[in-house]
Amino acid sequence: MQTIELEQRYTSGCYSKRDVAIVRAQGARIWDEDGKAYIDCVAGHGVAIVGHCNPAVVAAITEQAQRCITCPEIFYNDVRARFMEKLVAVAPEGLQRVMLVNSGTEAVEGALKLARLSTGRSGLVAAQRGFHGRTMGALSTTWEAQYREPFAPLIPDVTHVPYGKLEAMAQAIGDSTAAVILEVVQGEGGVNIGDGDYLRAVRTLCHERGALLIVDEVQTGFGRTGRMFACEHHGLLPDLMAVAKGIAGGVPMGAVLLGERVQHITPGVHGTTFGGNPLACAAGIAAIDYMLEHDLPGESRRKGAWLLERLRTLDSRLVRDVRGLGLMIGIELRTRVTPYLKALMQQGVMALPAGRTVIRLLPPLVISDEELEMVAGAVERVLTAEAVHA
Ligand SMILES: *Cc1c(COP(=O)(O)O)cnc(C)c1O
Repeated sequence: MQTIELEQRYTSGCYSKRDVAIVRAQGARIWDEDGKAYIDCVAGHGVAIVGHCNPAVVAAITEQAQRCITCPEIFYNDVRARFMEKLVAVAPEGLQRVMLVNSGTEAVEGALKLARLSTGRSGLVAAQRGFHGRTMGALSTTWEAQYREPFAPLIPDVTHVPYGKLEAMAQAIGDSTAAVILEVVQGEGGVNIGDGDYLRAVRTLCHERGALLIVDEVQTGFGRTGRMFACEHHGLLPDLMAVAKGIAGGVPMGAVLLGERVQHITPGVHGTTFGGNPLACAAGIAAIDYMLEHDLPGESRRKGAWLLERLRTLDSRLVRDVRGLGLMIGIELRTRVTPYLKALMQQGVMALPAGRTVIRLLPPLVISDEELEMVAGAVERVLTAEAVHA
């Protein structure tokens, strides 16, 4: 318990923490200080796509740490060049250039800035229940009031429209709209699965009216939904795509991918000290190679379909809906999820909320079938037990 007391003394207070200290992680498992193991369907908020401490990632960063850890983008770098090539090779068609950053919110921030730069317009349209990060620009496009309101005034010219309603979107995109930003599956907002016709129609509207389409694949990217990127389910071609989370096997990294409609980029217009550092790039090369060699998008599709079907047979009055795409799964309850997340932890399974009433499962895509069965069993026990209290 020493760790908890020590950290509690110094922590900012920004987080509501669970009463456990994690000290080790491997594959789809994490261990606490007392040696208790958990199956990890939090996975660092969906980061550990290739598994915790993936051996290929560990080897790559160990080797790179001895050659060169930091190198800003005012110089060229061998590892960065190879990483960019690899990222563009797996990205949706038409995304040809890369701005490397260090987190999801920075990727969104970069996409918003480049959209304003490129169009010379300032307006941004985002979706209700969307989540795009916590820095001031990205936060302005995030929907949830409790994240935004304490920090007002945020950046102006942001409109939020209902997700999936084309008419409202058509009304919101005007002459001064720089970009529309959307998730393909809303993660934080409740695992809301976007409709392909809607998403493609938004793209058409953007193009007709001179705006850019930013797709936020920070959570859905790198195989999470059963395709390398969720856009691929719908043949959706973004002008800008923000990625992060699983991109570098757990090492902090993000990227903005740019299509040909993004223009007017001149040296000095945007930048970051750590962006494109060789350590993260080496991890990113190893992570993407691993995803391709082990067909993690395919694994995600197969395992996700199995888990979804298994959870849909759950006979529980608590469950309102079970939905998901690949290994991005939401179990919507008729009540608040917090006590059930606690009960799951006692059963040895870590899970996330998505809003107040949805349990979200984001396991590493390398999770074994046996571990997946253990997750399903724990969820079943917890949601069919009489005695779960707050
Ligand atoms: C997590 C997330 C972000 C923010 O990423 P950070 O790395 O926490 O800044 C942005 N968009 C989506 C869709 C996310 O899931």
